[in-house]
Amino acid sequence: MRIDVVTIFPEYLEPLNVSLVGKARARGQLDVRVHDLREWTHDRHHTVDDTPYGGGPGMVMKPEPWGEALDSVLESGPRGGEDGPVLIVPTPSGRPFSQRLAVELAAKPWLVFTPARYEGIDRRVIEEYGGRLDVREVSIGDYVLAGGEAPVLVMVEAIARLLPGVLGNAESHRDDSFAPGTMAGLLEGPVYTKPPEWRGRGIPEVLLSGHHGRIARWRRDQALARTSANRPDLIESCDPEALDKHDRAT
Ligand code: SAM
Repeated sequence: MRIDVVTIFPEYLEPLNVSLVGKARARGQLDVRVHDLREWTHDRHHTVDDTPYGGGPGMVMKPEPWGEALDSVLESGPRGGEDGPVLIVPTPSGRPFSQRLAVELAAKPWLVFTPARYEGIDRRVIEEYGGRLDVREVSIGDYVLAGGEAPVLVMVEAIARLLPGVLGNAESHRDDSFAPGTMAGLLEGPVYTKPPEWRGRGIPEVLLSGHHGRIARWRRDQALARTSANRPDLIESCDPEALDKHDRAT
């Protein structure tokens, strides 16, 4: 997968060199290219913002540098069709980012992110590219950050760990919280490791039983209990077909 990020703070994306994403890059599974938006400015001060039309506080990112930057990035790869890019615009006013969207985006060959600052990007940029590309305005949650770089780190990590071969154990994201399929989109229950006793606290007996069926049932019950305590909305919205008789009784 190829990922381009256009930003005024390229250094903010340095964590993409670390850990899982960094290793995926080193192995050639992920081709990440970070671009400095200011390279597409032409004045002495490398200006990327201006006052908003209609007045009001804050500044708005100018369309010209974004247009030139995106044209340049887009020209460096396939224009459209199956291989074309998805343009992801982080914004609190976008659709919520979710595991489902991460799965969808992990199947795409090329993602281009446009993390903004100030009050966001002049609307015409989104309209311009929306006419010819798959453009997604995406929010990572109901709060406002100072910029879109942290949302890009969040989204890239969520997507990258789903790419084939990136996680050591391909099975491990199948049982994650929100994963469709066996877990029906529920939250994952508690997990334990050695030692068997720590500060007087043991681990649930069933996990020592070696009985796969009982362990699976226990994990499922824990997932259901945690989901109904912390995110009852997920139980209400989950596919009833994905719940068995025992789940419903729980
Ligand atoms: N005035 C904007 C609003 O109320 O929707 C907020 C602009 S915010 C200060 C600057 C930039 O940070 C946004 O354009 C976006 O790129 C990013 N950002 C902030 N919060 C975000 C969130 N929850 N999800 C995605 N991006 C976010």
